[in-house]
Amino acid sequence: MVLTESQAITVDGPEFRARGPPLTVSEATEIVGGLSRTSKMPSHSWGIPAANCHVGGKLVRIQGSTCRGCYALKGAYRWSAVEAAYQRRLDRFEDPRWVDAMTLLVNWQARKNGTPYFRWMDSGDLQSVGMLEKIAGVARRTPEIAHWLPTREIAIVRQYRKKSDVPENLTIRLSSYFVDGDPPLRLGLPTSTVHKDAGPKGLECPAYEAKPASCGDCRACWDPKVVNVSYRFH
Ligand code: SF4
Repeated sequence: MVLTESQAITVDGPEFRARGPPLTVSEATEIVGGLSRTSKMPSHSWGIPAANCHVGGKLVRIQGSTCRGCYALKGAYRWSAVEAAYQRRLDRFEDPRWVDAMTLLVNWQARKNGTPYFRWMDSGDLQSVGMLEKIAGVARRTPEIAHWLPTREIAIVRQYRKKSDVPENLTIRLSSYFVDGDPPLRLGLPTSTVHKDAGPKGLECPAYEAKPASCGDCRACWDPKVVNVSYRFH
């Protein structure tokens, strides 16, 4: 069933219901600042401005890094409405109802898209351990949905894992720092690389074989058993 934004839906889970009356999709959208929808992906996604990246903010200045020429710092991402949307999502992240609202929206978009997947950080990267804790909280409350979180913030992930486990349905995939470089420090987690002159290491992303680029039936990025996904430099 496809829900409209004005339809109220409840989210399973005693924690959510204990917090008061259920939110509507419109209310949740207002709290979170909305989700993104790209044609390439099977799901909606959530992200923040790439200008706020910590590790990426250093890498973007280095020739040959995977952040040099970052897609989220150019093109449509520079349109004022798009920039404002990503900034709004960052600004609203501290709202105490954020986990509740995101839980609802993750479920809502899965039903709308007819596919149980969600992507984090289509732009930007983790800002803190607290941000990862909240994302993991949403994943725990949506156990039937597979979550993919690509990140270069290895220190944040390491710190988080000292205190907490990563939910089984949350694939944290650590991204490499340099084009044609080796996979990053794994921490026992799946990784991704970018290949240009060297061949792909591991599974090569097939998205750019389609025109326009599309994941099609591939869900490798969400699959923790796929040890390394290699994206073609473009
Ligand atoms: S590897 Fe598969 S799931 Fe990941 S971006 Fe490429 S096509 Fe999409």
